[in-house]
Amino acid sequence: MAQLDILIVGAGFAGLYQLWNLRKEGYNVKVVEMGSDIGGVWYWNRYPGARVDSEIPQYELSLPEVWEDWEWSERFPGWEEILRYFDHMDQKLDLRKDCLFNMKVVSAEFDSESKTWAIHTQNGRTFHTQYFLLSAGFAAKRHIPEYKGAESFKGLTLHPSYWPHQGINLEDKRIALVGTGPTGVQIAEEAAKISKELVIFQRTPNFALPMTQKYYDKVTPFPKTGYSEHFQNRNHSFCGFSWDFVSRKALSHSPRQQLETFENLWTDGSLRFWLGGYKDLFFDEQTNRDAYNFWRDKTRLRVHDPKKREILIPSVMPYPFGTKRIALEQGYFEIFNQENVELVDLQSTPITHLTETGICTSEKDFEIDILILATGFDLITGSFNQIEIKGTAGELLSDKWSSGISTYLGMCASGFPNMFFQYGPQSPTSFCNGPTCAEAQGNWIKDCLNYMRDKGFSTIEPCAEAEGTWVELVSNLGEASLIPRSRTVS
Ligand code: NAP
Repeated sequence: MAQLDILIVGAGFAGLYQLWNLRKEGYNVKVVEMGSDIGGVWYWNRYPGARVDSEIPQYELSLPEVWEDWEWSERFPGWEEILRYFDHMDQKLDLRKDCLFNMKVVSAEFDSESKTWAIHTQNGRTFHTQYFLLSAGFAAKRHIPEYKGAESFKGLTLHPSYWPHQGINLEDKRIALVGTGPTGVQIAEEAAKISKELVIFQRTPNFALPMTQKYYDKVTPFPKTGYSEHFQNRNHSFCGFSWDFVSRKALSHSPRQQLETFENLWTDGSLRFWLGGYKDLFFDEQTNRDAYNFWRDKTRLRVHDPKKREILIPSVMPYPFGTKRIALEQGYFEIFNQENVELVDLQSTPITHLTETGICTSEKDFEIDILILATGFDLITGSFNQIEIKGTAGELLSDKWSSGISTYLGMCASGFPNMFFQYGPQSPTSFCNGPTCAEAQGNWIKDCLNYMRDKGFSTIEPCAEAEGTWVELVSNLGEASLIPRSRTVS
């Protein structure tokens, strides 16, 4: 017998919104969370410089009871302020009382007879529930490269998403930072200010864009005019922002108009130069190259050393612009003009091994105190595969997906009844603003469960045919774009 109507895994934006959303419909719902508090990625990612790169008010819930009396202090808030926002959400929506913390879900299986899920945690708890909702985020499993000699390194090794809650003193330390995704860029900016030596290991250049931070206070708060309209618009754009691509192709503009458009997007800051640019940015090679060249010409001026400049901002576009996650930066390129910052191009001089005291490339050895692996995550499927999820035929979800991911709407999978996921594969996850996606997918799931209840149905799962159609649609869309060419451009 089910003890719960719904068990949600994960107490970030998606899980908490869904707790509120489903509880108010009368369902008996609980959240289990691996961490010891709410906050999702912000609970874990407490590294120096961690801040969101969706500008306010994009990155918040659309519920008036939450936004009406909440004031942000920065256009791009840092992790401490975001955690205070989670506290505020809890005060308004009474969330913590239905969350169980320090519970890592390790396995789950569906019982066809009782039509319920049994969900097991590492500390020995089992929950029986009619519906199983995975809202664990797309970045729950860390990617940690395996280096020869890693076990001999006597310094401190850190992955940013496990940043110790008591903090780490980087002052006067010799630091190696591997990875130049959004996390690596943010850490580099902070570490460069205080470290004795900072060596940044780059595998692929990040086409980082200026953040254009702004500050607000009680005297000049962020104006809340048009909030409702803003949240409405957020639901109808490509990336879940209230702004969208320019509604025309680049070629329909003269070169002068194109330049004006690029300049305007650039001045606005945020991710707009990327996700609010010409609508054919991801489809037309020339449009894509023009955007890169504009970024390159602006950015190259900021790095003095020609060798470093070419590694960071190559004269020839190394892969299509925007097909990898672009970071927002605040002075990232200038740090390479500092004497304490060194840059290593891993494409020409790969890391060979670690020693007791340092890190070695094919060209040079570096003595270090701290190794920071900002090497990202086993994105999207990693979060799912770390739980052993067994469906009706006894098949594991990881086995079903081992020869190719297959979902319906990126939210459910055939053979796994009454299971839904948010931020899953084959959904807008990688490009979508978190809270927008949490609400859009959450509301769809809520409507589906209400329909089931109203009609007296007890189980639901997609049929294989519907799943096949969805997979084909997603892969056709991907193939038509420049995204599969993300690594190299001929
Ligand atoms: P990421 O975007 O996956 O970047 C990982 C970096 O590590 C890349 O530069 C990658 O190089 C490099 N790397 C991976 N394996 C490596 C290896 N074996 N050797 C050398 N380099 C290696 O990870 P992230 O920066 O942690 O970001 C993860 C996600 O979190 C992002 O997609 C973003 O959505 C989110 N995020 C958001 C914010 C924000 O809102 N401000 C901040 C941080 C993160 P390659 O490019 O060559 O693979």
